[in-house]
Order: sequence, then structure tokens, then C-alpha cells
Amino acid sequence: MQNERRSAMKLVTYEREEQVGVARWDGQRTFHRLLLADGEPVYSMLGLIQARLAGMTVVDGDMIDRGNVRLLAPIPRPARNIFCVGKNYRAHAEEFSRSGYESGQQAQDAVPAAPIFFTKAPETVIADGEAIWAAEGVTEALDYEAELAVIIGRGGRGIMKADAMDHVFGYTIVNDVTARDWQKRHQQWFLGKSFDTFAPMGPAIVTADTIDGRNLELRCLVNGEVRQKANTRDLIFDIPILIETLSAGITLYPGDIIATGTPEGVGVGFKPPKFLGKGDVVRIEIEGIGALENSVG
Ligand code: MG
Repeated sequence: MQNERRSAMKLVTYEREEQVGVARWDGQRTFHRLLLADGEPVYSMLGLIQARLAGMTVVDGDMIDRGNVRLLAPIPRPARNIFCVGKNYRAHAEEFSRSGYESGQQAQDAVPAAPIFFTKAPETVIADGEAIWAAEGVTEALDYEAELAVIIGRGGRGIMKADAMDHVFGYTIVNDVTARDWQKRHQQWFLGKSFDTFAPMGPAIVTADTIDGRNLELRCLVNGEVRQKANTRDLIFDIPILIETLSAGITLYPGDIIATGTPEGVGVGFKPPKFLGKGDVVRIEIEGIGALENSVG
């Protein structure tokens, strides 16, 4: 039990000598490789989630220095479904409506009456420290969106609000990178949010028995300047509502990712807009999880 409890903290996916593994991270330099009781390594985060759902014992293996491995996104490319929520903080919904970059059906109401869902292609995922593609010549309006992401543990369909938190495995950070000109011109959000590298994720998943995603401070800094600052308790549609709505008709599976929406302070919200360019560094911090930092290259 002690090992089980100790492993319920920061979890990372890493690559070492072309072998992928999962480790518990002490938050500093040391990864503790995770093993099943029979000594078999845990090879993927989905494997770890499945093992925990099956009640299998997971224990610490050998220690690895962080400097000797390559950190991957906690659920690496191609990830599971990446469900995303649009306009889920009131002040951001209003800034986006004012920006002139909104289009389509969603533009009719600044604050939506029901959650707006879209998805990002699962190939968009990159790790902490990897470069966001500047996409020069393709987009003129590259933007960041700091978001808390929910990782589904036990899946299901028809999950009710009251039970929804039992289906959360943990939380991580996602930058919902967006090409605003494509988001506007093509009327639908999938295309402008699914360019290669447009889903930086990580650095770790923190399990739901350690933190409560419904009350976490979140900040986004660009080149050291604070652009976004909020608390996840201000979500218009909270995590249980999001899970109930999504799962009403879609079966959720272990490892599915729900990016819960971004608060006020995205680049397009400024006048004139503060879009990203080559060399800019986007850092997203969420209380209890850590910091996700990616430069534009
Ligand atoms: Mg978003």
C-alpha cells in the first residue's frame, strides 16, 4: 500500500535508449521507474491506468536521473481523443467575442448556454520543452491557450455528474495552440487548432487522489510576462458537467483527454493582438502540477 500511495503523485512518460517507460517523478532530478508486482516495467501511461483500474499493484523500480532520459508528453503522440472546450471562462468568452476572430454559430452568444466541444487531432501532441511550429507562411495569427486537462481513468457512457469525478485519473497541463486566422476563416475550430505541434502537454500527470482539479490556480507567461491568471473554479461548465455532457452519447475511454478551456488573456484578446512568433517562450503553470514550457521555433 505504501508504494501505491507513493506512486499517486507526479507521473511522467520518458524514453531511454528507444524504450518508453512510465515513472514517478519527485519533481526534481529523479524519476522512479514504475514496475508491476512481477517486475515487468510499465511501458505506457495507458498501461498504468489499466493496471490501476484492474487493482494491480504498482511499485517503484530503479531510480533514473532526469538528465539521462528524454521526457515525452505524459500521453504521447498519437494521444487518445483530445476533447476540448471552447469559451469556458466568462471573461475569455467576452474577450474572444470582442476580438473579431470568432465565426460561425458560436459567435451568436458571447457566453454559451451549453458547453462548446471540439477536438484536436491526436498527432498534435508534443512534450514539455519541445518546439511549437511557428508555421510561418501558413498562419499570421499564432496564439496560446493555457488549460487544465483532465485525464480519464475508468471510461464509460452515460456518466452522471454525481459520479463523474470517480472517472478522473488525473490532471495535466495543455497549451491549446491556435492559428486564429484559420479558426476564423474555416468556420470550425478543428483545423486551426490541429496543426502539427499544437498540443504541448505535460510535464506530468498528477493523480486525482492528490489534487482537485476544480480549484487550482493557473498562469500563463509569454517571455516572462504574465498574460493569463485564473482559477479553475471559475469554469462556466465544471468538470462533472463536461464529463456528463461528453459521455451522454460518446463512450469515454481510459486516457482520453479533456482540455477544459482557457481563461482571459490570450493573444487575440489584446488590442492590437499579441500573437506568437519565432523565439517566443510560452510557460503555463498550474498549482500542484508544475510548469509546461515551450518555445516557438
Ligand atoms: Mg482552448
